[in-house]
Amino acid sequence: MRVLVIGSGGREHALCRSLAADPQVTEVHCAPGNAGVARVATLHPVAPTDPASVTELAGRLGADLVVIGPEAPLVAGVADAVREAGIPCFGPSRQAALIEGSKAFAKDVMVAAGVPTGRSRTCVTPEEAAAALDEFGTPYVVKDDGLAAGKGVVVTGDRDEALRHAAACGRVVIEEFLDGPEVSLFALCDGSTAVPLQPAQDHKRAYDDDQGPNTGGMGAYTPLPWAPDDLADQVMAETVMPTVTELARRGTPYTGVLYVGLALTSKGPKVIEFNARFGDPETQVVLDRLETPLAALLLACANGTLDRFGPLTYRDGAAVTVVIAAENYPAEPVRGDVIEGLSDPVEDAYVLHSGTALDGDRIVSNGGRVLSVVGTGPDVPSARAAAYEAVERIRMRGSHHRTDIAGRGA
Ligand code: AMP
Repeated sequence: MRVLVIGSGGREHALCRSLAADPQVTEVHCAPGNAGVARVATLHPVAPTDPASVTELAGRLGADLVVIGPEAPLVAGVADAVREAGIPCFGPSRQAALIEGSKAFAKDVMVAAGVPTGRSRTCVTPEEAAAALDEFGTPYVVKDDGLAAGKGVVVTGDRDEALRHAAACGRVVIEEFLDGPEVSLFALCDGSTAVPLQPAQDHKRAYDDDQGPNTGGMGAYTPLPWAPDDLADQVMAETVMPTVTELARRGTPYTGVLYVGLALTSKGPKVIEFNARFGDPETQVVLDRLETPLAALLLACANGTLDRFGPLTYRDGAAVTVVIAAENYPAEPVRGDVIEGLSDPVEDAYVLHSGTALDGDRIVSNGGRVLSVVGTGPDVPSARAAAYEAVERIRMRGSHHRTDIAGRGA
């Protein structure tokens, strides 16, 4: 099989790495990729959000499968164009990707499907926003209705700040605060059925002890020893299958990953958000543990044949990833800093690249999140120790990382 992956982050490095390890895969291509992806895939300088260019590339390569990593190409209709050209594509249509692209659309689908989630109101005027804030009370949760790379959400006890965010966004969803640990569950969907991957936990705040601004994600781990054993089954029954069925009923069947962001509340798991793609950095740890060859699994989703695919298998043990971020991330990350220590080997750990580029023969930072360092081991503490040992060997001016990733995972 020849597979083309679209995107350029740590998630795409993890996807390319797993695809390259699949014995059925003969060629892995990535557009545009980064300096790390180049070690496991052939890179193509094609704009990931341009449907015509991606389709042309897939056709020219003779790709048997196109896998779309980030949300922007999905919302731009890249999956639609690739499928129209007759090439199997793992990724939802532009219409189905609105489940991430519009918080209001996602809430509408959740309500229609009877999915457990927080009560909410979609608001446009300052008066509507003020009324909704007072209805749900503090802490206030205000979400930009549009795509905001995980940064359009403000959770605050300060009513004025909540009102200012609502005014700055225009159209917002204001919702009830959901209390409880957060879990990410990826369901692979083929339009009519779905299978869950292993639940993982992300760490969204920039600094230790969940302090500082929200980010795309500073680290993740799987499995979650503290989570109920039947969590994935429960979320499949209450949330994923009703959502997949509702989207099919609306004539926009969902093919790709349905990323369910959950809060485990005292009243059971409730949906905080849906995303239309693999989460970064949870993908880095979930794919590390997945033993089932990835290409055939994603192709079964693209072809609508998931019901004939056997049960998924996982490696024993745990995986932890720690993100190394650039100076001043998430505000205005500094680029172009040289990264050293990448080739120092650590047993049971490896480095995936998020925002990197080649400058001559040096690898330099080229984004906010620069590297995802993955450690593995028989349990979460040993995987965590391996990840941090590898992190300590990497040197980059101004970089920062959290020191408490997977600290709850013992
Ligand atoms: P989102 O972009 O919807 O994932 O929101 C980003 C982060 O904001 C989530 O990971 C949560 O930590 C927080 N958040 C969003 N919605 C809620 C909510 N209803 N209750 C509590 N926290 C929330």
